[in-house]
Amino acid sequence: MNQPPSYCPYCGASVEGVDSPMHSRVETLMVYRCESCDDYVFYNPTPGGSAVVVNGDALLLVEDFRASGEWKLPSGRIELGESMREGVARELEEETGLVVDPDDLVYVHDEAGEPVPDQHMVNVEYAVPRSKTSGTLEAGSDATDARFFTPDEFESSSFILRESHVDRFGDESLPWLMEEARSALELQSNASR
Ligand SMILES: [Zn+2]
Repeated sequence: MNQPPSYCPYCGASVEGVDSPMHSRVETLMVYRCESCDDYVFYNPTPGGSAVVVNGDALLLVEDFRASGEWKLPSGRIELGESMREGVARELEEETGLVVDPDDLVYVHDEAGEPVPDQHMVNVEYAVPRSKTSGTLEAGSDATDARFFTPDEFESSSFILRESHVDRFGDESLPWLMEEARSALELQSNASR
């Protein structure tokens, strides 16, 4: 369940909250119990991820189809059966047309958040250089535009970052993301030398 459950997903009976463990980061019950099934129902976050595609001093952003002028990293939720990297590679291709081997995605950062009240997510960001992607850059599903920006170019444009992006990374996050992605890629290339 990725929302606090009221009913048991197995038998439909009401469930009751069970105390959360002491180390819980949120003050929300995470474990519920169905007295009819005598089994537990867990309230868990949904995994998601983003790609930071680096091209020189620029990184790839997509314009969200829900809001013109609002941009974010290519990102989305992981689907059934996918690893984190496989899900991020699929989202990148769906939104931008760029194809990447999931194994070429390099870990950058991860964080937990609550983009919608009571719907928690855990996100992982991966970097890849543009040179390790193939395909033609073209906005796809969920995106109305896809472009590379340097942080300065974006800053001086009339565009803004989408609220979900700001919630996750902050208002002035592009220079930081750029730096984190480039140092992750550099470490990776030094290690494989
Ligand atoms: Zn039940």
